[in-house]
Amino acid sequence: MKSRYSLPLGKPFGIKVAVHWTFSLLIAWIVIISLARGLALPQVIMHILFVLALFVCVVLHELGHSLAAIKLGGEVSSISLLPIGGMAHLSRMPEKPRDEFLVSAAGPLVNVVIAIVLWIYLVTLQRVDIENMEFHAITRQNFALMLMAANLFIVVFNLIPAFPMDGGRLFRSALSMKLSRLRSTRIAKDIGQIFAVFFIIAGLFLNPFLVVIGFFILLGAKGEYEMIKYQEILRNTTVHDIVKTEYAELDENSSLGEAAEKLVHISDNGFVIKSDGEFTGILTKNDLINGLSIHGKDTTIKEVLQGEPEKVKTDTPLFDVYQDMQRNRKYLMPVFDGDQFKGVLDLENLHEFFLIRKATQ
Ligand SMILES: [Zn+2]
Repeated sequence: MKSRYSLPLGKPFGIKVAVHWTFSLLIAWIVIISLARGLALPQVIMHILFVLALFVCVVLHELGHSLAAIKLGGEVSSISLLPIGGMAHLSRMPEKPRDEFLVSAAGPLVNVVIAIVLWIYLVTLQRVDIENMEFHAITRQNFALMLMAANLFIVVFNLIPAFPMDGGRLFRSALSMKLSRLRSTRIAKDIGQIFAVFFIIAGLFLNPFLVVIGFFILLGAKGEYEMIKYQEILRNTTVHDIVKTEYAELDENSSLGEAAEKLVHISDNGFVIKSDGEFTGILTKNDLINGLSIHGKDTTIKEVLQGEPEKVKTDTPLFDVYQDMQRNRKYLMPVFDGDQFKGVLDLENLHEFFLIRKATQ
């Protein structure tokens, strides 16, 4: 989720939590629905407070996953909140079946704890009297009870054994204690798709929301399987196997105008820049175009190159590099073996490499 569309909320445990702008649509929708139902303003406010409370529970759920992941050696970059729920972005996920199981279980477990706390509050302090409670709208009387029910719903929903729900991961990690990760993912994907079809058919008769969930699961199942397949393909491949030793190069004293002229003749995403035959940096197509519009064509490449370029080592697993390049839009990266420049890694070629491997598997 791009940060410019999100409002940062804070950094609990060093994890960035941000809410996506579409969340305001959800609030607007609640206001409209509530007003259309003829509810008075205090009740509308109550409904908004309820959604906000629910989203705090969702954040806690994601923090549950995140903290468990960090504890087990993973890395979490941020948590984003969307109207459909929360998402923890793990830059490194523990892969051992047992660890993945614990990380997946930690989220729903948080909601179980919240539900228990609310239940204790209800029976001790609020002395809940369900028989005389009204349920057509959220009120001060039923707020805690409804929030408890919502948390239990989150638990049940997330335990559906299908990607992208936590249940899918729990199921896969349980299977991969016996089977390979790819095989387990495949089984989890198939079961997920059966659920999805069931949801879609049931939804046509019962509730359109189920249809949406069905499609959500269909896509999630496929996406997860494809990703694991990529991972497997790339597991035994390092940068060394795919480094491009033929590349377009320019001297750092050449002008941006000269570079622009050459650009149309090359197939790479940019140039390797050298000084006296020694590597000094990378000039991507984007750098060049930006440089031209800011500084003009007479500026030398040397002047627009910024700092020490980020390097890739030949023995890095291809999967790690691919993820990083894709996520951070690095189109061209220099490859080094120790201090020695070996060539470049082009994102375009990586895509092609994938397609070929996939087709020949
Ligand atoms: Zn979860």
